[in-house]
Amino acid sequence: MLVEMAIADAYGAGFEFVAQDIIRTHNDLSGYRAHALSGESACYTDDTQMSLALAELMLSDKPWDSETIAAAFYDTYHRDPVHGYAKRLQQAFTEAPNAKAFARLVKTDSFGNGAMMRALPLGYLADEQKIMSRAELQARVTHDHDIAVNAAKCIALATHAGLYKKATLDTLPDYLTDLGCVFDAQWEGPVRAISEDTLSAVLMVLSQSRSLSHILELSVNFGGDTDSVAAISCGIASCYDEVEKDLPQALIAQFDHPHYGLEYLTNIDLRLDALKR
Ligand SMILES: [Mg+2]
Repeated sequence: MLVEMAIADAYGAGFEFVAQDIIRTHNDLSGYRAHALSGESACYTDDTQMSLALAELMLSDKPWDSETIAAAFYDTYHRDPVHGYAKRLQQAFTEAPNAKAFARLVKTDSFGNGAMMRALPLGYLADEQKIMSRAELQARVTHDHDIAVNAAKCIALATHAGLYKKATLDTLPDYLTDLGCVFDAQWEGPVRAISEDTLSAVLMVLSQSRSLSHILELSVNFGGDTDSVAAISCGIASCYDEVEKDLPQALIAQFDHPHYGLEYLTNIDLRLDALKR
């Protein structure tokens, strides 16, 4: 899950908010592009890092409460400051001298896609009610808004449905609706970095392909917040048996994220898998 997510995130980051003609010319999965603002290339962004923070918290014996979750985000960022965070979060990470101060400083009035992009690992839990309550709790730490909470629940349940074989990608929308999730699975055009856009774009892509490579390409084709759509779509798709796990060798080989790269994420993925009951 995290490995596929990281590769898609790093690839998508090179196309984040670029002009559509750059996407048309370069979205061929042959290699990574540098991010237009940070200049970073071939490494993941906030989507994967925050998912990793929550995954490691799930694997620890620490409690799932607001303070511990905020500390997980803060500590994970400071051990490896990656690019791509929203200005609001980036500022709080930088200005806060410690995790407690971060929790106080960070503004939470947002329905941006930050709370949903990190909810994927929660799908490894066995119980749907627990998944939804934990998805909500982690969301409200930075996104105290019902739209962001709904999207976070949807994403966590989407990985769960694949991991526990409760749905196929064809039946996923019905599965989510039955659990009270609200969404519109149709999308076209550039994706803003907000929950509703991102959720629609992800569900649209997942309805259109059964190949990770193709899902990555389609995610980027929308334009806008390409790294989040790509990371979430590929992370979810990796949990489904019917999806061909065919991310290009070139992207695996060129991935370049020191310390917390693919080897580290592979190990976390294996440990998450062992949580499955
Ligand atoms: Mg990102």
